[in-house]
Amino acid sequence: MRLKDKVAIITGAGRGIGEVTAKKFAAEGAKVTVADVNEDAVNKTVAEIRETGGEALGLLVDVTNREDVDRLIDETVKNFGRIDILINNAGITQDAQLIKMTEEQWDNVINVNLKGVFNVAQAAARVMKEQQSGVILNASSVVGIFGNFGQTNYAAAKWGVNGMTKTWAKELGKYGIRVNAIAPGFIATPMTEKMPDKILNMMKEKSLLKKLGSPEDIANGYVFLASDEARYITGTILSIDGGTVL
Ligand code: NAP
Repeated sequence: MRLKDKVAIITGAGRGIGEVTAKKFAAEGAKVTVADVNEDAVNKTVAEIRETGGEALGLLVDVTNREDVDRLIDETVKNFGRIDILINNAGITQDAQLIKMTEEQWDNVINVNLKGVFNVAQAAARVMKEQQSGVILNASSVVGIFGNFGQTNYAAAKWGVNGMTKTWAKELGKYGIRVNAIAPGFIATPMTEKMPDKILNMMKEKSLLKKLGSPEDIANGYVFLASDEARYITGTILSIDGGTVL
């Protein structure tokens, strides 16, 4: 087991990449706090982890809400004693071209995908500093490297996530805290299900491997970066995108 007895918080772990990552972490021996805004999804992920003999705590958490975030940190420490790993996975899309994007679409995506990452990382880093150890992993995207048609808000947030990842690596390294991000390509999850087939087929074509990725492909990256195998890796943005060049 590569994460035996490590304590991990995963946001947005009710479904998609977060759900699969939470299950994989539990299978690798981690104690997992499953945090999400969707109560049914939280309960389902937690139940499935427990059915397979894993250890999980489910919490209803909106990463944009500082009180929710404080409760997430407090409850995790109360239940599991420490925080070894944070995966800032929660994210949303609300697409529109620049000319048509509403202020609400801009604010919603920036609040969850950028400020939410800041909120949870800041609270977790304070605990990790006390411990003098920890790993923070952020969900970036190929869109945070190449941009994407119709995603001004999402690209701005993911670009910001890349910047925060490198900044935190510089600030927190001296406390034994590693900070990295994963930039997935187009992955088959509920987030991409709502995209038109035409766009998905175009994305498949753009990947050098001619297919979408699966949530397992991303979860495998998170396991590696969270594990001691990656103990000398910090400040990096790992692309897992089948060679997608946009
Ligand atoms: P997903 O299937 O939509 O799952 C995201 C989860 O986060 C959902 O359960 C969602 O709940 C939850 N969530 C939304 N807002 C939240 C909030 N404020 N606080 C806590 N949880 C919240 O997304 P995914 O495809 O697995 O993506 C996961 C991460 O990877 C995101 O950061 C995304 O930007 C990134 N990513 C995904 C892809 C891709 O192709 N799928 C590519 C690059 C990067 P609801 O269902 O209730 O909204």
